[in-house]
Amino acid sequence: MEVILQNLTKKFPSRDRKNREDVVAVSDFSFKIPDGELIGLLGPSGCGKSTTLNLISGLQKPTSGKIFFGEDDVTDLPPENRGIGLVFQNYALYPHLTVKQNILFPLQNLKGKDKISKTEMLEKAYKAAKLVQIDELMERKPDQLSGGQQQRVAIARALVKMPRVLLLDEPLSNLDARLRLQTREEIRRIQRETKITTIFVTHDQEEAMSISDRIVVMKDGVVHQIGKPQDVYDDPTNLFVAKFLGTPPINVFNGKIKDNRLYIGEDAVLEVKGVPEQEVYVGIRPEGFLLQEEGSLCCKLSGVEVMGRDVSVVSTNAASLNPTIRAIIGTENNVNTREGIVSFNLIPHKVFLFSKESEERIYF
Ligand code: ADP
Ligand code: MG
Repeated sequence: MEVILQNLTKKFPSRDRKNREDVVAVSDFSFKIPDGELIGLLGPSGCGKSTTLNLISGLQKPTSGKIFFGEDDVTDLPPENRGIGLVFQNYALYPHLTVKQNILFPLQNLKGKDKISKTEMLEKAYKAAKLVQIDELMERKPDQLSGGQQQRVAIARALVKMPRVLLLDEPLSNLDARLRLQTREEIRRIQRETKITTIFVTHDQEEAMSISDRIVVMKDGVVHQIGKPQDVYDDPTNLFVAKFLGTPPINVFNGKIKDNRLYIGEDAVLEVKGVPEQEVYVGIRPEGFLLQEEGSLCCKLSGVEVMGRDVSVVSTNAASLNPTIRAIIGTENNVNTREGIVSFNLIPHKVFLFSKESEERIYF
């Protein structure tokens, strides 16, 4: 099911006595979500992710804008008529019901022509349970399950009616690190198998990057960039997006453009033809540094961390905005730790320039 968001906006009245301006939780969000894709809605806490999801589910009404599921304008439909499955961070299972009864619940509430027989209901419940691999646990109560199992029950319950759209709001946040990894792969597998258009909300960039067909990066209610995870990482549109994606994070420096050259401090580090002279922010991905004896960017070495597959060179530089600079290099490189100074050359496509005023990208 294609989902179309058209100039979607949601404002809340201010709760701040000093500032009476409305809170714009979602601002003019337009996006055509292709049928069958998994979209990662990503951004820091308070950026409007849950509100966006609530508008799509119908739990909240937009201040303006429209929502279509395929040809259907669902903007004014109540949630129960939209054909959606919802999963939240706190599994929200009925504690007094068994797993089976929890999964059956949405089917028992079907009315009129949608009503189905008991046998059909059980068939569907077992099918959904199998999909999330909890069909062995059907007679248990939620408190007899681990967090990961409870979240699977919640996903099965959301899937049992085969929704047109599946909406997940930080579904992995209550799980420990290992289960989080495992469950996110499960969600990806289930989504691939069912081909249900899915919107997955998270503040965790790695989580969003790893399972999404496309990510939407939001801040303060505004969508900053939409694209395939790798494309957004490789080609961020502004400083915020560049900083939000990637572990270790991007290294940011104060720099300046002079005579078609990029300077960090006194070091001329790159040729940048055609960029007007100005002060800039320079973002360098950790994998954008080449450790070379005569490298153009000199930094003070703080330490070397061996991480198995590669090595992390930690250093400082007066122009760096991060307390330390992290460069990831291959283990085949020998870091000369005696001198206390490391020098790097830069890989141009791993270096991004941003305007000091607007923080928008400057292309070179
Ligand atoms: P996220 O899910 O990304 O953490 P939310 O969508 O929950 O963010 O919130 C976005 C903004 O809208 C926040 O500033 C939040 O305080 C505000 N907000 C959310 N719900 C309400 C509400 N019911 N009333 C007033 N303000 C709200
Ligand atoms: Mg939220």
